[in-house]
Amino acid sequence: HRQQTAELLETLIPDAGNSIRIGISGAPGVGKSTFIEVLGSHLIQLGHSVAVLAVDPSSAVTGGSILGDKTRMETLAFAEKAFVRPSPAGSTLGGVARRTRESMLVCEAAGFDIILVETVGVGQSETAVADMTDMFLLLLLPAGGDELQGIKRGIMELADLILVNKADGDQVALAARTMGDYRSAVQFLASRFDEWQTPVMTCSSLNNEGVAEVWAQVDAFKKVLSETGRLQQCRAEQAKAWMWSEMTESLVADLKSDERVKLLVPDIESAVLAGELPATVGAQRVINLYKNS
Ligand code: GDP
Repeated sequence: HRQQTAELLETLIPDAGNSIRIGISGAPGVGKSTFIEVLGSHLIQLGHSVAVLAVDPSSAVTGGSILGDKTRMETLAFAEKAFVRPSPAGSTLGGVARRTRESMLVCEAAGFDIILVETVGVGQSETAVADMTDMFLLLLLPAGGDELQGIKRGIMELADLILVNKADGDQVALAARTMGDYRSAVQFLASRFDEWQTPVMTCSSLNNEGVAEVWAQVDAFKKVLSETGRLQQCRAEQAKAWMWSEMTESLVADLKSDERVKLLVPDIESAVLAGELPATVGAQRVINLYKNS
């Protein structure tokens, strides 16, 4: 239904865009859904309406999705002002990210003023989510110095806010130490925006502690970056990048479905596999076939 989708999105676009888009990532078990549940409920109390979407490339492998388990986000899922959508099934990260972007626009047009995009902290999905949101939150666990070393620098550099979750019970002191360690670490990392130094905070999603403070940081972030025009600029750049990635995907899909290409590509592929033909030359041949067909 590509054509209908395009028409629908074009109709909705004037009403989309009036939200803050927040990406939330972290390793499985760090407490993302618990956090989203309390944050979402807090936001609804403040009068917002919240849409939760997921970018979950693992769904293609496991057959389920990270939000598929019905016990997750129970309160939020039933709240009238919330919309919780499990990850659309997709075989590629690009495909899932694409649908999520589209869903985001539809949610905005429907009046949701806060969009939370959840992703599992594995592989490339963080980058995909950071590229479609205004602000990127990274959830981490209280941990010793050694474990801190294991966190990928690139992921920390994507983060606009770092939260050490599970700062409760006998982990309070460890969480505070972890926060200190990350605070020192972020000083040596590049931040995404010149006007924003990534804050590091602790919270307990389980006890609903620190969540209001998190939202205060989101507000501050939005204010600072709106004032300089950076937020709008960032969105415009994201939209342009999205257009190019759509074109690339459409062209490749079109190329792959071309009859002549389908007929002749297996031979070219075998030659490349066998090392008889350089990949670059193979690619050029396929493209020429497509262009000439
Ligand atoms: P996700 O996989 O990142 O979405 O993590 P979940 O939200 O499913 O949480 C994983 C487990 O950690 C669950 O058993 C939660 O109850 C627990 N959990 C989540 N947040 C906290 C917290 O702040 N403190 C404690 N002690 N446990 C938490």
